[in-house]
Amino acid sequence: MVNEKKLGIYVHVPFCLNKCLYCDFYSETDLSLFDDYISALEIEISMHSNIYSINGTCVDSIYFGGGTPSLLGGARISSVMETLQRYFRISPESEITIEANPGALKKADLKIFLDSGINRINFGVQSFNDSNLRILGRIHSSKQAKEALEISRIAGFGNIGLDIIFGIPGQTPNDLKNDLYQASEFRPEHISCYSLTYEEGTPFFASMSKGIISPLSDDDVAQMFIDAGETLAQLGYKRYEISNFGRVKEKNNHYYSRHNMKYWSHDPYLGFGPAAHSFDGKRRWWNQRGLKSWISDLASGRLAISGEEILSKEELMTETIFLALRTISGLDLKLFKDKFDSDIEKAIKPLIDFYESDGFAFIDSGRLILSEKGMLAADAITKGILNAVDPID
Ligand code: SF4
Repeated sequence: MVNEKKLGIYVHVPFCLNKCLYCDFYSETDLSLFDDYISALEIEISMHSNIYSINGTCVDSIYFGGGTPSLLGGARISSVMETLQRYFRISPESEITIEANPGALKKADLKIFLDSGINRINFGVQSFNDSNLRILGRIHSSKQAKEALEISRIAGFGNIGLDIIFGIPGQTPNDLKNDLYQASEFRPEHISCYSLTYEEGTPFFASMSKGIISPLSDDDVAQMFIDAGETLAQLGYKRYEISNFGRVKEKNNHYYSRHNMKYWSHDPYLGFGPAAHSFDGKRRWWNQRGLKSWISDLASGRLAISGEEILSKEELMTETIFLALRTISGLDLKLFKDKFDSDIEKAIKPLIDFYESDGFAFIDSGRLILSEKGMLAADAITKGILNAVDPID
């Protein structure tokens, strides 16, 4: 169908074998509720589909995230895929991703994932250095990560992604380069390269607060951000968002994560599972974080939504600018003007001149795009633009 807005689906799988020391994603290490979780998930999918199937909305992206979705195993993931196929119109061209932990992956499950329609697998590798993996509290070793990447390719995955973290206490620029070189040996189609953050409530945050671990300096982390971009460019990967890189697919076309692109483009997505968020272009709502209460609400026939917000014009403008400037597509100034009736180009002209002269940003085909240097200061630049734009005009 022409001009049809395609829907993304996110399934949050809230189980992990062990909590990594830096992680603040919602997950439980009690694995006894797998089957109750699957039953509740299937109820939730059927209830939500009633809302969206009215418009015949087509789904072109499904993402099993977590947590550790691969822990559920092939049979349970297949069952969820069948349920999604029963209730949604899923495009045959869909990108369907499962996140996997190299320390929680069964070889036999890979074929079942593929047979169920999953065509992309993303590994939380984080590092190929065992000492850094231990600092992060990961359950896997570098050897397990390499094996997982190898057997996934052999099983038939043509689209493999992996995550690398930098800024680990004690990590050197050479450690990071080694991680990226080792990652590239497997020719993954996609690499996410994130800087470590110290989230409140995590053991890492507590250790930092007590002075047990010392974060790298901002300058060192900024240098690693630049190094990562340069190293990955040499290895054939293009940065298309602050933390994400895609290998070339065909001429002028790279492997980008469709799920991530939807989020940065403000496209609609439905989230299933505890703590999952959904967005319809204006309204955002989110599920309860507690697995047991989420299950019990759905078992009683109630959606387990714990909150919602309708974004005001100002909030939509803020998010549009913030998200667009993270990507190399940047902010389409004309589209922004038409959508929000706000002449942003005129309002921020002096700022654009300043950013351009200092190498923070440039204009290309009517889009404001941040340079790598600008991406390092993305938050400050976004704030500057927001201050200059009058949302009520
Ligand atoms: S495996 Fe992933 S989701 Fe689970 S605790 Fe570690 S980082 Fe968090």
